[in-house]
Amino acid sequence: MNSTSALPRVAFLGLGHMGGPMAANLVAAGYQVTGFDPVPAAREAAAGNGVSLANSGVEAATGADIILTMFPSGQHVLAAYRGDGDDAGLLEVAPAGSFFLDCSTINVDEARLAAELATAAGHHALDAPVSGGVVGAEAGTLTFMVGATDADFETVRPLLEVMGKRVVHCGGSGLGQAAKVCNNMILGVSMIAVSEAFVLGEKLGLSNQALFDVASTASGQCWALTTNCPVPGPVPGSPANCDYQPGFAGALMAKDLGLALNALTSTGVAAQMGPLAAQIYADFAAGEGAGRDFSGIITEIRDKSGQ
Ligand code: NAD
Repeated sequence: MNSTSALPRVAFLGLGHMGGPMAANLVAAGYQVTGFDPVPAAREAAAGNGVSLANSGVEAATGADIILTMFPSGQHVLAAYRGDGDDAGLLEVAPAGSFFLDCSTINVDEARLAAELATAAGHHALDAPVSGGVVGAEAGTLTFMVGATDADFETVRPLLEVMGKRVVHCGGSGLGQAAKVCNNMILGVSMIAVSEAFVLGEKLGLSNQALFDVASTASGQCWALTTNCPVPGPVPGSPANCDYQPGFAGALMAKDLGLALNALTSTGVAAQMGPLAAQIYADFAAGEGAGRDFSGIITEIRDKSGQ
């Protein structure tokens, strides 16, 4: 760690929907943040928020204590860590003993491989995926699920607390990603179950409000029902009240269930609901559902039910 300043120097790579506002919050808290993203609009927005721009990720990492990545996939993370052909990777150029903090949502196996590569190169490694979406990234209210050693977790915790309101140490490498895929598998399956129940109620002549009044205080209670209710009315703030504007987009739910499916397959868990939910959301996201809130799955169920 840089001993001349109170706060570690941060290289922030991936300044997209999530990374952009997260980097801005670090700057606002006094961190010296050097950023890079290949997308010009992302760079311009970050510069406007006080992020110093580098010409590449490698350039940003060269003078950093913490290298934070917020990328679309594990392939992006591994490629950036390793480098490509003659192009050096982040692991090679970062000062010895740097902290590699990946906040992207990626496969558990990829997170473990990334950590192995980082520690073999003499660095520290943490996986710290988030929930809370763009709204949480902007407000600094994300939840971080962290896979790391106890010591590395404590070192990076203050930085995570700038960007999030809840920081949970889930265990060693990969276990932050494990918590994320397990949670989102519950979410995907429960949203389908809640949506099927509403459509069944409609077919049986039951009002949505009556079903909500019963299930929200009975054993059917869950977040998909009481916060992100897929029918308009009972929960005024849910995306169903604004034509399923996300919220949590179908494309992201399909991605996360794909990661859950990979984890189910690699571990040999005899799951049935998770893989089915992954297929249902993959189909949803192949069409207009990609850009709609994931609770919009109820409209597909209605359509297929002849309603
Ligand atoms: P995004 O596509 O808006 O941003 C990713 C950025 O990474 C892009 O701007 C891309 O240009 C950049 N990038 C890719 N390779 C790079 C490299 N080598 N160097 C520098 N920049 C690089 O995606 P997002 O919505 O910000 O999501 C980022 C991650 O957070 C994903 O893994 C996603 O699953 C996860 N996530 C997103 C949300 C959400 O609501 N958007 C919520 C929770 C978790």
